[in-house]
Amino acid sequence: MNDKALYNQMPIVVLLGPPGAGKGTQGEYLARKFKWKRISTGDLLRGEVARNTELGKRVYHYLAQGQLVSDEIINEVVSQYVNANFHIGIILDGYPRTIKQAEALENYRDSKPLWVILIEVPEVVVIQRLSLRRVCAVCGKVYNPTISPFPVTQTCKCGGDLVQREDDQPATISHRLEVYRELSSPLIDFYQRRRLLIKVDGTGTPEEVFSSISQEIGKKLEYGAN
Ligand code: AMP
Repeated sequence: MNDKALYNQMPIVVLLGPPGAGKGTQGEYLARKFKWKRISTGDLLRGEVARNTELGKRVYHYLAQGQLVSDEIINEVVSQYVNANFHIGIILDGYPRTIKQAEALENYRDSKPLWVILIEVPEVVVIQRLSLRRVCAVCGKVYNPTISPFPVTQTCKCGGDLVQREDDQPATISHRLEVYRELSSPLIDFYQRRRLLIKVDGTGTPEEVFSSISQEIGKKLEYGAN
């Protein structure tokens, strides 16, 4: 088998689900377990904003208001990233978020297998999770009292302050959920029709959800399914 054919065996795993479904946590667990590369488009864009790069300046207002940045910008960023990591498994957390993004991914993924995991969580639960979660201002670690209590020191293990993400304010949360319903939930049908969708219950503990996801990934790896 030549290199290209071998690389094409490594999957792209898409984590789908509303904001607050646990995509970030599950993506980190998966990356650690399988030694795959995770890209969180939200983290990536927040990093650009924090470093005040040209891209950061262009996308800042979209992030602050809970709106999606343009398909062109995000497709360009993610396709470069996928190409640079083509030789290993890739976990996409927060992408695609529109049908246009999903169509672009279909074009540049070549024949890499695509496994789409929908983490299902009712809206009332995600609203509670998002409004209570805090992130470390220094290392970005996420804390959520709906999953485990805040540290007694009320600071991160690294010593950083725990702060609320600007887009986790109540008005922005409801806007983000509207955006999800309108633009991202059609992806469920898109992937279901292509028989690529795997649904998991996202309401358990992070470990329980990870166990369900690992089982599904295990089946795919075992049977080499596309
Ligand atoms: P997240 O951390 O995944 O909730 O993303 C935070 C914000 O980053 C979103 O509300 C959007 O403004 C932006 N963003 C992240 N991923 C995408 C994407 N695939 N398409 C467009 N905008 C995105």
